[in-house]
Amino acid sequence: MSTTPAVPAVPATPLLDVRDLRVEYRSRGRRTVAAVRSVDLQVAAGEVVALVGESGSGKSSAVRGIMQLIRPAGGEVRFDGQDLTTLGRKELRRARRDMQMVFQDPFSSLDPAMTVAEIIAEPLMVHTDQDRKQRRASVVEMLELVGLRREHADRYPHEFSGGQRQRIAIARALILRPRLVIADEAVSALDVSSQNQVLQLLQSLIAELGIACLFITHDLAVVRSIADRVAVMYLGRLVEQQRTEDLFDHPEHPYTQALLSAALVADPRVQRTRRRTRLEGELPDPANPPAGCVFSTRCPLAIDVCHEVAPPMRPVAGGGQAACHLVEPA
Ligand code: SF4
Repeated sequence: MSTTPAVPAVPATPLLDVRDLRVEYRSRGRRTVAAVRSVDLQVAAGEVVALVGESGSGKSSAVRGIMQLIRPAGGEVRFDGQDLTTLGRKELRRARRDMQMVFQDPFSSLDPAMTVAEIIAEPLMVHTDQDRKQRRASVVEMLELVGLRREHADRYPHEFSGGQRQRIAIARALILRPRLVIADEAVSALDVSSQNQVLQLLQSLIAELGIACLFITHDLAVVRSIADRVAVMYLGRLVEQQRTEDLFDHPEHPYTQALLSAALVADPRVQRTRRRTRLEGELPDPANPPAGCVFSTRCPLAIDVCHEVAPPMRPVAGGGQAACHLVEPA
C-alpha cells in the first residue's frame, strides 16, 4: 500500500473509469429495483481501491455491472479507454483477459472435478496458445508464487483448506498477469488467521506484479493495510471516497464514521480520539429507498433537509469527496 501524499484522491488517467453506473433488477412482482444508482469510481494502473459497504449496499451488483456479467441500465465502464458496455460477447471476452476476479467462496468457485493444475491453467487455455508443457511450467511457477507446491498441481480442491483454496483461486486470477483484479469479498469466508495470510499474499503479489485491484469488502478493518483509496457505498450510492489514511483519520460521512466505530472498537488510540457513532437499524429496502439522503433513516445527525434533498458528492479536504449536507466543502 502506498501512504504517500503522491497517491491522488482520484486518478487523472484511470485504468478503470466507471461513470454514472446504474444496475437494475426486476423483482418478482416485475418492479424495477435499482441496486446501483449513479456510481462514479476510478482505479489507476497499479492502484488498490477498496469498495466498502454492508451486505445489500450494492457492491456486488456494481462489480457485476463493471464486469458486464449483468448489462448496466446506464452509465459507462471504461477499461483502458474502451467502454465495455458497448462491446459484444467476443470483444468482451478479449477485454476480460486483463480483468480477472477472485470470488468470495473458495468452496464453490473451484470446480471439484478439475485438478488444481487444470483450474489454474484454464485461463491460459482460453486466452493463449501455450502448449501443454508451457502451461504446466506456468502453473508450477504460479503455485510457488502463491505459496503452494508443485506436487499440489495434480490434487483436487477438496484436498485443501479454505485458505489454500483461495490461494488456488488467486493463482488462477493472476496467471495471465491481468492489469486489474477484482476481489469480491475474497477473504470473508476464511477464519481470521487464513484471512490475514491470504490478504498479505494478495497484497504482495499485486504489488510485485504491478496489478491494480478493486477490493470489495463489508469489513472496513481489512482495507487499511491493502488499499490506497477507499470508496464507501450505501444503498446503491457512493457516499464517500478518500485516500485510505485520510479516511481512517478524518472520516467525513456519518455512515463511514459508524463503520469505522464498529471496525476499530478495539483500538484504544481510536477510542481516545474519536466520537463513537453507532449504526442502528437495518439497511432500507433498495426497492423503497428513503427520500432525500439515502442514509437519513439511520443517521444520528439527520436534520430536516436530509429527508427531502439528496446531498451531492462534494470535495473535502485532502482531495476526497463525501455526500452529506453537514460536510464542510474543501
Ligand atoms: Fe446524515 Fe443528513 Fe448527512 Fe445524510 S445528509 S449523512 S442524513 S447528516
